[in-house]
Amino acid sequence: MKRRDFLKTTLTTTLGSTAAVGISSQSVMARGNLKPAPDAVGMLYDSTLCVGCKACVSACKKTNNMPPVQAKNKKDTADFARDLSSKTLNVIKVYRNGNLAVKDRQINGFAFEKRSCMHCVDPGCVSVCPVTAMRHNPITGIVTYHADACIGCRNCMVGCPYNVPQFEYENPFGQIQKCQMCNQAGVEKIDKGGMTSCAEVCPTGATLFGSRKSLMAEAKKRMALKPGEVYNYPRGNLDKKPSHHEKEIPIYKKHIWGEKEAGGTNVLHISSIDFDKLGMPPLKDRSSASVAETVQHTLYQYMALPAVALAGLAFTVAKNSNNDKDNDNKGDKK
Ligand code: SF4
Ligand code: SF4
Ligand code: SF4
Repeated sequence: MKRRDFLKTTLTTTLGSTAAVGISSQSVMARGNLKPAPDAVGMLYDSTLCVGCKACVSACKKTNNMPPVQAKNKKDTADFARDLSSKTLNVIKVYRNGNLAVKDRQINGFAFEKRSCMHCVDPGCVSVCPVTAMRHNPITGIVTYHADACIGCRNCMVGCPYNVPQFEYENPFGQIQKCQMCNQAGVEKIDKGGMTSCAEVCPTGATLFGSRKSLMAEAKKRMALKPGEVYNYPRGNLDKKPSHHEKEIPIYKKHIWGEKEAGGTNVLHISSIDFDKLGMPPLKDRSSASVAETVQHTLYQYMALPAVALAGLAFTVAKNSNNDKDNDNKGDKK
């Protein structure tokens, strides 16, 4: 069977079977977004509190035993990580505009923005992984990676809307690397009642650890604060007697990133700068995982699609075999 015929037949039978199983808007068994895990933990990153010290980047590297990203001349031992990579799971980026005169101002200003895994409520990386090497903890909501199960297909890199999972291209036995909220096997800081290393060392509370519920309440409270007044900002673990420091309240954008985007995230961000300017992707409220799994489950309902597709392919192969036989018989007669 020629390749062109095979593709044509596959397409025709797929379309035919789709019609045969009667896929319509009524018959699609829609799966909505997953809900936040009952004891979901996460972090609140408040860009207006971040001073760009990168203590969180160093602490993350120490916990995950990762080397610094060196400058080209390699004389400087400082970490020059500018973006996420297989050696950097948490990075602080800078927004710049005009003359950079004022922090947290969109025009002629600058601001910091953190990038790391958002620990999605309905994670795309988990949905597309064919071997459950990416796992979503149903209690804490933490998304972890399991190298022993991974087959290196890199689907998770495509399934993540934040471009978070990074593959170790330089390693012949490369694995995926991403933040696991300090709860990966052998570390398990959260299971032991601790907090993430980045929140632990953050001097200003720009990265704050806690339950998703308390962090969301804190973020909403900050949205309602009066700019110019003073607020007692918490540091460390919001649910376990955090320390505090006073600071003038900035003008926040009335937007909590992660409340709704793509089904929501356990890591929330707030800022004085629009999130598209900070490089966040344009996302609808519905998760890509819920859309993809709705289509997939419908097509495979009662195994109708594979059965019809197989029947179509078998029919074409049989037809081609008969044609070949006829041609052979004609040749014999000559
Ligand atoms: S690379 Fe590994 S973790 Fe990522 S989708 Fe493939 S099997 Fe899953
Ligand atoms: S941010 Fe990406 S890697 Fe992290 S949980 Fe969401 S989809 Fe997965
Ligand atoms: S440790 Fe805190 S203040 Fe320093 S860069 Fe990280 S988030 Fe910002």
